[in-house]
Amino acid sequence: MTPNSLFSTLQSQQNWLITTHKGPDGDAVGSVVAWAAYAQLCGKNYLIVFPDQPAAYLCPFLEGYQWEVFQADKKYEFDLLFALDYNAPSRVGQEMSGFVADYPARKVMLDHHPGPEAFCEHTISHPKACSTTEVIYQTLEDLGELSLINLAMAKGLYLGLMTDTGSFRFPSVSAYTHQMTAHLLSLGLAQHEIHEAVYDVNSVTRLQLRGYAIAEKLQLYQEIGVGVLSLNNEELKRFNYQKGDTEGLVNVILSIEGYNVGVFLMETEDGVKMSFRSKGQRFVNAFAQAHFNGGGHQYAAGGFYEGTLSAALAKLESLIDQL
Ligand code: 5GP
Ligand code: MN
Repeated sequence: MTPNSLFSTLQSQQNWLITTHKGPDGDAVGSVVAWAAYAQLCGKNYLIVFPDQPAAYLCPFLEGYQWEVFQADKKYEFDLLFALDYNAPSRVGQEMSGFVADYPARKVMLDHHPGPEAFCEHTISHPKACSTTEVIYQTLEDLGELSLINLAMAKGLYLGLMTDTGSFRFPSVSAYTHQMTAHLLSLGLAQHEIHEAVYDVNSVTRLQLRGYAIAEKLQLYQEIGVGVLSLNNEELKRFNYQKGDTEGLVNVILSIEGYNVGVFLMETEDGVKMSFRSKGQRFVNAFAQAHFNGGGHQYAAGGFYEGTLSAALAKLESLIDQL
């Protein structure tokens, strides 16, 4: 794929359908916002379609954009489908994966997860990039479109950078990340407003849920530097759990001295959602893929266990030495 062939695809197709993964995080929302702003600048018709409702703290970033949650019985008539921040149709969830895989339009992937599946005509995959918004920025640079970036786009781009890098601290941050950030700030971006909008919107019950998890539910495997946190349905209800309340909780484990792997398990209606985080020479994506039907990056991966929380914990415990 050359920048030229992508450019001619973008130019020739007028109706853009912009999608991202299930359980959209800051990079997912930042990417669709940046791409929708780009679509507007190019005079395209666009619609953002999410597999499920984004967490409340991310919705303000979508104000002024056309977006909706996927409806299986609706006809979506577009000439181009963008897959942003995911590398396989399965990542949009069961309800929407067939739609994405079979969609009868050209598809463009912009993503940074390793091992992209071949379902798009244009696959722009940079696994070393710290976020998909960095991939978008890099792509615009390759297309000679950097001068188009305006403040609205910058907000989306920065949201993805900030959230996927743990506020610019992970090894994935490069000199290029900072050059990109400098450019966004030069456009008048007030970065503190983005930090506040994401990190200073806790409810009291969210903080209490996190405090409870750390105080009562932390299992430590000191010899191997692994920590495990879990929350069941009853506990989530007790603290009035809202989507996004446990986002980033798993990182607390990595902040304990001597701990390099953290796992968080949360009971959901269909099974147990798992988050893995690591640092140093410890990688978690292969483990998540091999044992918990998941995958992701070396240092941040996810998975799913179909069964009860206690069964998931027992399976994890039996495999813990492999982490
Ligand atoms: P999180 O713990 O924030 O849900 O997910 C961390 C990272 O793991 C995500 O950025 C994504 O790359 C990956 N991930 C999460 N869940 C899954 C999954 O079910 N399958 C795959 N392949 N990757 C996942
Ligand atoms: Mn991402």
